[in-house]
Amino acid sequence: MLPMPLPQPAFAPFRPTPGHRHRFLYSNWMLAFVGAFVFIGATVWASLVARNAILQQDAEVKALEWGEHFMARFDDLERVLFGELSHLRTLRSPREPELTGGIFQYKIFDIDGNLRLSSDKAVWQQMHVYSGGASPVAAAVARTGRQVVSTRFGDGISRPQLYATAYFPLVKSYGIIGAGEVYIDHTERAKLLDGILIKAGTALMALTTIAFLVPLLFAAWEARGRRDTMRQLRHIAAHDELTGLRNRTAFLESTENLIARGSAFSLHLVDLDRFKDVNDTYGHPLGDELLRQVAGRLTDIAGPDMILARLGGDEFAVLQPADRTGSAGSGQLARRIVASLCMPFALGPVEVSIGASIGTSLCPRDGTSRERLLMAADLALYAAKRAGRGRSVEFVPEIEQEYRDRIALETRLRQAVENEDFELFYQPLYATDGVRLRAFEALLRMRACDGSIIAPAVFIPIAEELRLIDRVGRWVMREACRTATLWPDELCVAVNLSPLQFLGGGLAETVRAVLAETGLDPRRLELEMTESVLLEKPEEILLQLHSIKAMGVSIALDDFGTGYSSLSYLWRFPFDTLKVDGSFMAGLSDPHSRSREVLDTIIALGRVLNLHITAEGVETREQIEILQTLRCDFVQGYLLGRPVASTEVAAVILNAMRPHWGGQPAIERLSA
Ligand code: C2E
Ligand code: CA
Ligand code: CA
Repeated sequence: MLPMPLPQPAFAPFRPTPGHRHRFLYSNWMLAFVGAFVFIGATVWASLVARNAILQQDAEVKALEWGEHFMARFDDLERVLFGELSHLRTLRSPREPELTGGIFQYKIFDIDGNLRLSSDKAVWQQMHVYSGGASPVAAAVARTGRQVVSTRFGDGISRPQLYATAYFPLVKSYGIIGAGEVYIDHTERAKLLDGILIKAGTALMALTTIAFLVPLLFAAWEARGRRDTMRQLRHIAAHDELTGLRNRTAFLESTENLIARGSAFSLHLVDLDRFKDVNDTYGHPLGDELLRQVAGRLTDIAGPDMILARLGGDEFAVLQPADRTGSAGSGQLARRIVASLCMPFALGPVEVSIGASIGTSLCPRDGTSRERLLMAADLALYAAKRAGRGRSVEFVPEIEQEYRDRIALETRLRQAVENEDFELFYQPLYATDGVRLRAFEALLRMRACDGSIIAPAVFIPIAEELRLIDRVGRWVMREACRTATLWPDELCVAVNLSPLQFLGGGLAETVRAVLAETGLDPRRLELEMTESVLLEKPEEILLQLHSIKAMGVSIALDDFGTGYSSLSYLWRFPFDTLKVDGSFMAGLSDPHSRSREVLDTIIALGRVLNLHITAEGVETREQIEILQTLRCDFVQGYLLGRPVASTEVAAVILNAMRPHWGGQPAIERLSA
């Protein structure tokens, strides 16, 4: 699997990575080191310069003092310099006493730089042999009167380790008479100076270091604090406080980064089923605990290379890098998550069971933009929920088409509700002899934009979801009752009710208002309901049914035999009719089916409970004959008449009346 390092958010202007940060710190320390090095070097250099300057000045002063002293003591000097006296003689007398104050050798030159006197025997010997040598430096000093000092290093035996040679002019009142050169031992003086300078330098450096280092350390400490705070802030900004998973923003950034990197991956959107119930029933603290446990389970299932996030509420997301198994691996993970989240959760004293639906999209298969991938996963999630929750669905293009169709249908439905743009079809109900017309059931139709008819089974659940069913139901009731007033008085109209119309609580009022408005005799109205509504709040519904019945309206239990078909409902609720579901009819012609016995029992039960029995979906002669034998009360089905537009109802009514005038009953006309 591909490694997925923490991606950097796209919007941040610059955020150093760990690498950046190390390089940054490294260069800072390098700078400090170089600075310290330069500073120490400069200090040492400055100390040396200062020491040498002191030594040089020392040497100059000493040389001049010595020269004056020498000239004062040596009265024959001029004569020696002018060559009148031999140095041989003079050299013997003023010798050792002159070698004081660190001066360990001297030479005296005449005005032309020729050596005339020296304290060194070896030099003296040489002079004897070569009759003296000329020094250009001494000549220059004698000519210009300027001193020349240079520092030298000796071996420590024949010469001191550090000494200076200083040329100086020999000046009399009438002018320069020659030049002298003294050798001054600086070893001790230099040591002394070095000692002082080292101490001063060290003190200076210590002070400077303290002066620099303290703010530097403080700045470093502060920067570190800032970095820690920034890291904390970044963590807070990128993570969900409750679960510790990434938040929506960080998740979107991660997705963006993966796409930018060209990675192949799956995007799973995980939505908890029934989380709201837990929250509402047990309160927010337990709801929060549940979300934390969900995050824990997701973390356990997801590998270290996956990115987990809580997008908000009870919605989570997983980014899974694609491995060689591709889509199969992705489906496997989604199924594991669904299975894991279906297991009960222990929340302190209570144990709750929720579930999860997952929608998955694959990059790059389903898209290469964040929006596209999220939309595809969202559509897949929506499909998973519609398919009954507790499952995972991978995106396929058909899902998108279904979604578009659905959106178009919703739009059409809203339009139809707004403009009351529906139609009612009417299907006749006959007595089981197939001759006597008893009622019409109003069946709702909506036309698509192309004029084709959309079946109620398609759009009524959507109207329920969109909470439009109350308005639709009211229209149906008003329209059906209004139409029925145009029919002969003995014909009833049956109107279907959605369970949601009961839950609003205003059903009885609507019925009363419609009857008042249309003027239909309440005894001609029959309301059809399914038992599913009785599962919720049966007491409230019972009250409503009683007040509806009190108006004289009758009530039928529709689709009987498909749901719970609970006996308790049959005797507790004030039904007038049982409509046996059409699915029983298919079984009637099958000799191995028990439909006939079951139907027999239902009819017998109806008799006991004083209910009429209507059989729906009657399509064959055989079926109606059996129903006649079983003494069923009413029949409805294609055999006797399909639902027709309101304009055709008159023809159906006329046809039903014909037998009295010699015409055929509906049942015979159909088979003819
Ligand atoms: P339902 O109340 O059970 O209505 C009977 C359905 O069976 C009708 O379908 C009808 O056309 C069909 N049918 C009648 N005879 C036969 C037959 O011999 N064979 C077969 N195979 N089918 C037969 P339709 O009109 O498509 O309505 C479907 C369902 O939509 C209805 O089932 C009812 O539950 C609902 N519905 C229809 N109109 C309304 C309405 O105004 N309000 C509400 N809430 N629901 C409605
Ligand atoms: Ca019905
Ligand atoms: Ca039915």
